[in-house]
Amino acid sequence: MRIPRIDFETAKADALLVSNLPNVEYITGFDGSNALILIEDTGDVTLFTDPRYTIHAGRVFPGKVVTVKNKASLAHTALKLALKRKHRRVGFERLHLSYAEYQTISENLPLGVELVPSGGDIEKQRMVKDASELAAIRTAVNTNSSAFDAAIKKVRINMTETDLAAEIDYQQRRRGASGPAFDTIVAFGEKTALPHAHPGSIKLANNDIMLIDVGARQEGYTSDMTRMLCAGKVSTRLKQLYKAVLESQLAAIEAIREGIPAHKVDLTARSVLKTHGLDEYFVHSTGHGLGLEIHEAPSLRKKDKTPLEAGMVITVEPGVYVEGVGGIRIEDTVLVTKNGYEILTPTRKELIQL
Ligand code: ZN
Ligand code: ZN
Repeated sequence: MRIPRIDFETAKADALLVSNLPNVEYITGFDGSNALILIEDTGDVTLFTDPRYTIHAGRVFPGKVVTVKNKASLAHTALKLALKRKHRRVGFERLHLSYAEYQTISENLPLGVELVPSGGDIEKQRMVKDASELAAIRTAVNTNSSAFDAAIKKVRINMTETDLAAEIDYQQRRRGASGPAFDTIVAFGEKTALPHAHPGSIKLANNDIMLIDVGARQEGYTSDMTRMLCAGKVSTRLKQLYKAVLESQLAAIEAIREGIPAHKVDLTARSVLKTHGLDEYFVHSTGHGLGLEIHEAPSLRKKDKTPLEAGMVITVEPGVYVEGVGGIRIEDTVLVTKNGYEILTPTRKELIQL
């Protein structure tokens, strides 16, 4: 169990109902699909789940576990406990509770309890990884790269995008991953111009470039990497794009150090692409935090001023996407350290020619 750092004073609440499952897992270690926790200002944490998970919850969480029959009654039971402990103002995670869930909870609110929109403290705490989290991320990163190396040996002309995606997922599982950290992206040829392409029935042709964006989930934690491959000869235009994106990615990584605001890394990536006249083709953010979830705070984008801290794990993934030509993205998982950074992804970064 981790000690939650909740700012009850700012939230103007004396207890917090946590419904976002990754937050529940972060605090309790419980990774089932139905649970809530009540965190009290005394520091007490109670886990509420249903009978399917009683045994599992008891094994992973050393604190108090209450088994309840359905989801609506989880919250109701938690709020009744809050009232019994004399908590009048109970915070809920406003970004994670659906309107329907909120309505059900409000309708059954125990008399004397008030719901207060709150949340964000646990997400903030999750940004900086502790030693056990870093170990899990390193494992997930290494599994991902090793599975990638094995899978690309199977690349053949005429194989489909889904064939290759399935091979990658299979190789991840062989190495202990519980599954992909997100839907594996494999795109061939001009389809690489779609940043989040779904693998389909397109067959690999001679001289096609391939974009592979892949992550493994292991020990609950995620990894994320994008590499470009080519089945034959790369056009001069794509080679130029690759060079520019690589320059942008390396410069952005070089900008990483403790204290620098997240948006500065994004700005660095963008300004390099601008010198190549390519900034208009860079249509997404430069990167994101990862951990229990594939997308976590901070976000490396214009509006995120979060100062980077040692122990944060972020991706750096600039890309350019030109319709009718193709897209290039290069992505590593990177650890922020006291003196700079450590690139966790071990896979080589040149355009891989098969
Ligand atoms: Zn990715
Ligand atoms: Zn990513």
